[in-house]
Amino acid sequence: MNKSFFSIKIKTLLVIAPERSLLRKINDALLLVKKNDSREYKNLFSRLNVIFITNKSGHANEFFMPEKIWFSNTSVIVKNDLKWLASLIIHEAFHATQFKNGKYILPLGDKLEKPAIKVQEKFLKKLEGVLGKRDLEHSYKEKYWEKMEEDKISFAYFRNLLSFLDSNKLRIKHIKV
Ligand SMILES: [Zn+2]
Repeated sequence: MNKSFFSIKIKTLLVIAPERSLLRKINDALLLVKKNDSREYKNLFSRLNVIFITNKSGHANEFFMPEKIWFSNTSVIVKNDLKWLASLIIHEAFHATQFKNGKYILPLGDKLEKPAIKVQEKFLKKLEGVLGKRDLEHSYKEKYWEKMEEDKISFAYFRNLLSFLDSNKLRIKHIKV
């Protein structure tokens, strides 16, 4: 893997991305969480160890346990606004609470997604009032899953990146935001 990445550390959370601007956006989203919901902000750090933005475009993203790594292709970060991104990070981190001994308690699907969406909705509502309900249904039922399906190849790529990360085979330059 020749591609190099940049990283920042926010408390215990490592954020890796191919471009500095993506790191800044994640940092800004986290600041938004901090400002609006200090409890969710605190929870983030026990639920999430790494946010890894890949060098691929597309909307696929996946949360890995027990590593507590959220992999996401760049379009998820680039195409979404800051508030949505902040709520998505909370959604993904919530998935860490749905595991026992590093395994999903329930099969993938609605039973996992519904509670995570609920937590995300609650946060968006706090952030935007009634607007918080904006396009959650739309995103998850029409766009989100379809795009995930279209992007199956990414899931194998995430696994590759994970093994490269584990064996220190990625070039990652640590920077300050
Ligand atoms: Zn989810």
